[in-house]
Amino acid sequence: AVPVALVSGLSRAAGIGVLIKGGGALEMLAKVRVLVVDKTGTLTHGNARLTSARILGARDEGEVLRLAASLEQASGHPLAGALIEEAARRGLPLAQPEGVEEMPGEGVSGSVEGRSVAVGGPHLMQMHGIGFPAPAEPGSILAVTSTVLIAIDGAPAAVLAFADPLRADGGNALLELRACGIERVVLATGDRQAVAEALVAGLPVDAVVADLDPVAKTETVAAERRNGPVMMVGDGVNDAPALAAADLGVALGARGAAAAAEAADIVLLVDSLAPLPRAIRIAKRARAIAL
Ligand code: ADP
Ligand code: MG
Repeated sequence: AVPVALVSGLSRAAGIGVLIKGGGALEMLAKVRVLVVDKTGTLTHGNARLTSARILGARDEGEVLRLAASLEQASGHPLAGALIEEAARRGLPLAQPEGVEEMPGEGVSGSVEGRSVAVGGPHLMQMHGIGFPAPAEPGSILAVTSTVLIAIDGAPAAVLAFADPLRADGGNALLELRACGIERVVLATGDRQAVAEALVAGLPVDAVVADLDPVAKTETVAAERRNGPVMMVGDGVNDAPALAAADLGVALGARGAAAAAEAADIVLLVDSLAPLPRAIRIAKRARAIAL
């Protein structure tokens, strides 16, 4: 049986929007020392804004965005949502995508109106054997934006840049987490190193690990366990294996992927890290009473 103190801790946590799946997870919440945190959609809002579109070859920008956004309807990725919103702003009528294949953390490919379309990061394009012009120099404006590549009929069609700023409460939450027992913070992202480093400049982050596919994210979590019990916080399908591999997986539940919520031990009902420090304090108190 779960001790009364733990039951009351679970219900108090639920009261602040932190759904803890059982007494074991509550106890682990009191013990975690290392935070591995995802970037896109977790530290950032994920409702990014398109800041530039570089169209390659003699193509129409609206048509390229329309085909890409049509395909992205099949993806739950935060940047997919941003692209669809941009298409809506421009009044572009979207078509139904077919034969869609999503590679979590890499992007999507499929066919739209009989044309083959791929939208995602550099790994996805490499896998399709599509060569893009070299990325912009580090330190340029592109360094602080997430890049999304679009290919149409097997040829490079566009390089999009999205500004995806830190959540308003993101920095504060990290500081507060450090004040309640988190000794090490690691940012783990599928995005590029320069983007990730620029985002957390000035924040209490000890390490930034970038260009991670879901397997590499999981390996990062596994490696961090040697520094203490690891809490992994993420929102996406690409985070699900890492959430399961952590001592404690925490999913952002409101707009996050169902696969992440299923793999996690804790689901935050609000898409924000803000309630986590309070939840840790609740867990520590409940554990102290239960022991
Ligand atoms: P994080 O690990 O920080 O949440 P992701 O791995 O989800 O980041 O995304 C990193 C990069 O992967 C994006 O910057 C983008 O280039 C690419 N990407 C992955 N999925 C998609 C998609 N559905 N649409 C566009 N880009 C995508
Ligand atoms: Mg994410």
